[in-house]
Amino acid sequence: MKFVILGFILMASTAMAQDVAAFEKAELPGLVETYKGIHAHPELSHFEANTSALVAGELRKAGYTVTDRVGVYEDGSKAYGVVGILKNGAGPTVLVRGDMDALPIVEETGLSYASHVTMKNKAGQEVGVMHACGHDIHTTVLIGTARALAATKGQWHGTLMIVGQPSEETVDGARAMLADHLYERFGKPDVVIGLHDGVNIAAGMMGLHPGASQAGASSVDVTIRGIGGHGAAPQAGRDPVVLAAMYVMQIQTIVSREENPQEPVVVTVGDIHGGTKRNIIPDEVKLELTVRTFSEKSRKIVLDGLRQMAIGVATSAGLPPEKMPTVTVVESESTPEMYNDPAMSAKVKALMEKTLGADHVMETAAVMPSEDVGVLGLPGHQIPVVYMSLGAADPAKLAAARAAGKELPGPHTSKFEPVPEPTIATGVKALTAVALGLLQ
Ligand SMILES: [Zn+2]
Ligand SMILES: [Zn+2]
Repeated sequence: MKFVILGFILMASTAMAQDVAAFEKAELPGLVETYKGIHAHPELSHFEANTSALVAGELRKAGYTVTDRVGVYEDGSKAYGVVGILKNGAGPTVLVRGDMDALPIVEETGLSYASHVTMKNKAGQEVGVMHACGHDIHTTVLIGTARALAATKGQWHGTLMIVGQPSEETVDGARAMLADHLYERFGKPDVVIGLHDGVNIAAGMMGLHPGASQAGASSVDVTIRGIGGHGAAPQAGRDPVVLAAMYVMQIQTIVSREENPQEPVVVTVGDIHGGTKRNIIPDEVKLELTVRTFSEKSRKIVLDGLRQMAIGVATSAGLPPEKMPTVTVVESESTPEMYNDPAMSAKVKALMEKTLGADHVMETAAVMPSEDVGVLGLPGHQIPVVYMSLGAADPAKLAAARAAGKELPGPHTSKFEPVPEPTIATGVKALTAVALGLLQ
């Protein structure tokens, strides 16, 4: 086994095809089985008990010093973070991060290893659970990479920090691990690396976007207040439903009129609620928003706009000062933009090209969905982070979809379906080669 993995790592300078074939024969079937097991047994954010135990067990077997239950959330509850340390002489510390949580979605892929799991969410509701963001791929790739690097200790120097991160989907997992003194306890890394799968790239390919690659997300709660009364006598009150409707329309002008058109910004009202009965004007309407921005400056423009327009709508209705709306940023559900350190990205790209071939590494576009891996780089990008894209689409299905002008079902949908073998093989190869190249 060791020889096979060793050969696999050296494939950049040796007969690549033979080594890949040997690697796939020896390691891949076991990893694919692991993947299917994780996929069939997904766990929601904050509840990754079994997945984290599996990661901890695999890291121990591979020779790592493992600590589990690393992380503490804002409410004081403990997280299921896993840290595996492998010290191998003097040298840099490389943190390899993989996230482990799933989503409250009922799976509709029809796969033989599809999830039929339901579990209670934080609100106590029974929901279907699915690995619809491919964190099961990430977890499997993390295990494969950890094994490959443990087996090739003769080729690198330094410290490996393997991190199984909980609660990416609620963007409080990385923060919870830092709050539990991740770096004080296990050492501060010199670089953080990781990857995310996607079905807009064919399996076998890797992608990278230097600089700001994923938007920051700000969660905002807005309460528009009014004066309730009889639905047939609106003149006696101040209708917060009408004010909320005006507000929802007006805040789109933050995107189109307040921000530079060259700056990508999204303002979405994903949840709106007010009232109890059709003929009663309620006292208030609550809105939940997500804001996506690529810089602190953009974020400030949007948040300032949300506050000003809320006050403007209330003032136009003649509401008294005590009925002014409230606009609250929920920091525990917000995360900064993901920034790929440009110099480190160039290094990582060269390492991937050497291993996979230049035609298997592409520069990808920046996207609006957010990621909390950047939090591990600490404020002000103190530690360089490089987050890669892992192609997960069946190449034939992707080509057919493109020919028809369509897209394959993406992450966070019930039909999201990464193709396991080539995706896991490429992920392990890429992450191992990058870590190995940085640990010199
Ligand atoms: Zn996701
Ligand atoms: Zn994800």
